[in-house]
Amino acid sequence: MKLDTRAIRYLTSEDWRVLTAAEMGSKNHEVVPTPLISQISGLRGASGVNRSISNLAKVGLIAKVKNAKYDGYRLTYGGLDYLALNTFIKRKSVYSIGNQVGVGKESDIYVVADETGTQRILKIHRLGRISFRTVKANRDYLRNRNAASWMYMSRLAAMKEFAFMKVLKDNGFPVPTPIDQARHCVLMELIDSYPLRQVTSIADPPRLYADLMALILKFAAHGLIHGDFNEFNILVNEDTQEPVVIDFPQMVSIDHANAKEYFDRDVQCIKTFFKRKFGFESEEEGPSWGDVKRTGKLDVEVEASGFSKKQAKELDKYLQTISRLDEQEGEGDHGSSANEDDEDDEEEEDQGHADNIQDSNVGESDDEMNENKAGSSL
Ligand code: ADP
Ligand code: MG
Repeated sequence: MKLDTRAIRYLTSEDWRVLTAAEMGSKNHEVVPTPLISQISGLRGASGVNRSISNLAKVGLIAKVKNAKYDGYRLTYGGLDYLALNTFIKRKSVYSIGNQVGVGKESDIYVVADETGTQRILKIHRLGRISFRTVKANRDYLRNRNAASWMYMSRLAAMKEFAFMKVLKDNGFPVPTPIDQARHCVLMELIDSYPLRQVTSIADPPRLYADLMALILKFAAHGLIHGDFNEFNILVNEDTQEPVVIDFPQMVSIDHANAKEYFDRDVQCIKTFFKRKFGFESEEEGPSWGDVKRTGKLDVEVEASGFSKKQAKELDKYLQTISRLDEQEGEGDHGSSANEDDEDDEEEEDQGHADNIQDSNVGESDDEMNENKAGSSL
């Protein structure tokens, strides 16, 4: 789905309160009843609340849902985008939104700028966007999720990505500098390079190959496996030929049950690409799992950084399922885009885990309650 920020500066402080209330209400209501939105918003007078609800619904930030027992609203991805952006705006991480530069399988990538005009990358995680309709295996696990649970998973992906980038950057790995994270969004340094896949002028393929293999081993020495180390996630500067690695939601510890498999797959991706693109095959075998010498514990360090084991497990289960689908169906195509947030207002049972949504949102939400029209600078 597109990020449409046109309405952001027209929202009043009441609208923001009501939007935040809709998000908080989703903690334990798939369909948030209007009286509950009103109550959480703390606004006096039903007419103000109703006006805001109608404003927000008109621009698609919340969607009306008819339930068997009552009518109510749920937050859309658009609404979640606005809440995240508003947080960035208030923290002065973002001032303006520029062009979309990438559409990943499960993310949208935008160039944004801060007040000084410094450009950054905004990565919006959109788990659940790809279609699982054609897939029999794991279908129930994937399909029996509601919009709120996908939003929660997207948030986990953003939190995890930010935590890993931070630890990696602090330890001298060539990754973008992480700048900020809110809800399902990560803000990071813009790297002035293209993915290896697109770079036409690689001066010395054997050297780059050796650099990349050394990097895989360096990750592993520090206890980590990238897990999606391929020509799309390695940006190469055309002048310096230096690689920068991106895309971390699937990173795992070398103690992970599938660690060896992921390690071998990362190595194989690079081998296959270099052979196909440059006709280059190294005379040396490997690197192989046996070459890994652990000298550091960044996997342990990142666990202490606020991304809990339980959250890691939840996300891991999803990512492993997706990874298996990739193998079954061929990389990168699970069918056409579906599952968009506005599509169907199905009545589904509460998934139980949606109650995690609010836990760490409360801080941000309280902020938003107290500010007027923070979006006006956009
Ligand atoms: P996905 O998880 O959807 O694959 P990625 O993080 O790999 O998302 O980003 C998708 C694309 O966006 C990349 O292939 C790259 O072209 C661009 N991109 C992402 N992050 C950056 C960045 N920090 N600087 C420059 N380009 C980026
Ligand atoms: Mg990627």
